[in-house]
Amino acid sequence: MTDSRYVIVPPPQAAIAVAGTDKVFPVRRIWCVGRNYVEHIREMGQDERLPPFYFAKPADAIVPDGGIVPYPPLTKDMHHEVELIVALKSGGRNIPVVKANDCIYGYGVGIDLTRRDLQIASRDLKRPWEIGKAFDHSAPCGALRPASEIGHPAKGRIMLKANGQMRQDGNLNQMIWNTPEIISNLSEMVELAPGDIIMTGTPSGVAATVVGDKLECEIEGVGTLTVTIGPPLK
Ligand code: MN
Repeated sequence: MTDSRYVIVPPPQAAIAVAGTDKVFPVRRIWCVGRNYVEHIREMGQDERLPPFYFAKPADAIVPDGGIVPYPPLTKDMHHEVELIVALKSGGRNIPVVKANDCIYGYGVGIDLTRRDLQIASRDLKRPWEIGKAFDHSAPCGALRPASEIGHPAKGRIMLKANGQMRQDGNLNQMIWNTPEIISNLSEMVELAPGDIIMTGTPSGVAATVVGDKLECEIEGVGTLTVTIGPPLK
């Protein structure tokens, strides 16, 4: 039913499938951890002693499992970053670490697609990261699995293959800040709410991806995600 107060048709609700069901998880905000694996910090030439930080993507940047990501405009260096996704069923402010898992609906596999050339140009000019990180189709997300089924994974292989070739091969136990610590820390900065998802950072091996690439991701005990990079939109 459409609310007649709206002066335009309201935009559709972004959502992610729940594995093995016909249900979907409605997405409110997408938060991302900027750096959370030591080897990736080293490959980016950054100081590994600094705490992680956060940026966001729009919810309508989600691409479902099996989807096609049109190669985005303005970049010559789009990179893949495979990441564990955490989906929240509740939120709050100043959530204690020991209470953080109670907020989690489930987990999935995502890719933080990045226009690396634009991100680095923004970084060097001390400008915001949105144009490098928050572009259309920049958040492929595989089907979620509820924590009631799989628990709270703190270790397990996380990998990404491009056209069958291993590119990223890490382990969740390499995260500098674990999932409850991220939820607690982020909730000191913003109020978290049901529908928020968090991309928890990427292991090393980030690299350029080009039109025609098939990206296959897997996190042990969590799930899989496959997307294809398609030609640019006209
Ligand atoms: Mn990332």
